[in-house]
Amino acid sequence: MKVVVLVGGVGGARFLLGVKAALGLPGPGKGTQENSSHEVVAVVNIGDDVWMHGLRVCPDLDTCMYTLGGGIDTERGWGRAGETWAVKEELAAYGAEPTWFGLGDRDIATHLVRSRMLRAGYPLSAVTEALCARWQPGVTLLPMSDDRVETHVVVDAQGADPAGGAEAEEVSPDGRRAIHFQEWWVRHHAALPARAIVPVGAEEAKPAPGVLEAIASADAVLLAPSNPVVSVGTILAVPGIREAIRQTSAPVVGISPIIGGRPLRGMADACLTAIGVDTTAEAVGRHYGSRKCSAGGILDGWLVHSGDTAEVPGVAVRAVPLLMSDVAATADMVRAALDLAGVSLD
Ligand code: GDP
Ligand code: CA
Repeated sequence: MKVVVLVGGVGGARFLLGVKAALGLPGPGKGTQENSSHEVVAVVNIGDDVWMHGLRVCPDLDTCMYTLGGGIDTERGWGRAGETWAVKEELAAYGAEPTWFGLGDRDIATHLVRSRMLRAGYPLSAVTEALCARWQPGVTLLPMSDDRVETHVVVDAQGADPAGGAEAEEVSPDGRRAIHFQEWWVRHHAALPARAIVPVGAEEAKPAPGVLEAIASADAVLLAPSNPVVSVGTILAVPGIREAIRQTSAPVVGISPIIGGRPLRGMADACLTAIGVDTTAEAVGRHYGSRKCSAGGILDGWLVHSGDTAEVPGVAVRAVPLLMSDVAATADMVRAALDLAGVSLD
């Protein structure tokens, strides 16, 4: 069985742990299982990627890689376990901006290897494969694209102080500025109202090698309960990916990141508001839409949390517990998704 999952960072990585467990694949840091008949391919968002201090940082790829490879700081949910922050302190002592983005010492080694390979001309997919040779995530991690796509957020110019930004941006005649997603999310905690969220570069980007093939040859396609706008939405913005999902013979099931009208951990509601979608499981399900009967729709099934309800025309909806409190609970979610998809694990 081949399961393809669209993922962002923390929510996506935790979900992937459950996918592996449901398929009987080894846990974090236990490597791969050569003789398994099951395969998991994750198509990972790169819209959060950013150059920081001359280093290419890929937060969602790294969160997936560290989580599945047993190197994640489980308390924080991102970055390396046993991290130290000497470089960050030294940069701050120089007054080197930006100071609001924490790069840990261990994490920096990953970014150094990646940046060096990118500068030598390797595509991000090849770099990711090379980094994964160490971490053995047991899942094929494919960046959604080898091309540069960066999510920018349009905000009102006042309040978004240009000093300390990731990159200098210009104020447009209507008094608005576009800032990198990371600046909006990490520095401003998504508190500046987002007038628009734009995946810059997506229109010209091509899916990374293997992405369309994986979707076409999948037995099931799952949308992790990742941010529907800046994780899954950004992946779908790469031309060809949405069409591949609409056309695959595999069933497609999404899992709601919204429970009881609120996102879990994080500020996905601010992103949904920016694109005019209510923060409810039903609204997100309708936003993804039905493969059968809505233009551009991608779902056959939609899982919502027990007690939540959703009516999504053309989509089979089921309510089951959706709290990823541990790997076993997450594996139950995955089994429910595969069951809704009509896919048998035996
Ligand atoms: P990020 O890239 O690190 O922001 O992570 P993702 O985009 O992959 O996932 C973020 C989303 O995961 C948020 O919108 C949360 O609502 C969702 N999420 C986090 N924990 C849970 C959980 O236990 N259950 C469900 N259903 N969603 C969750
Ligand atoms: Ca992310």
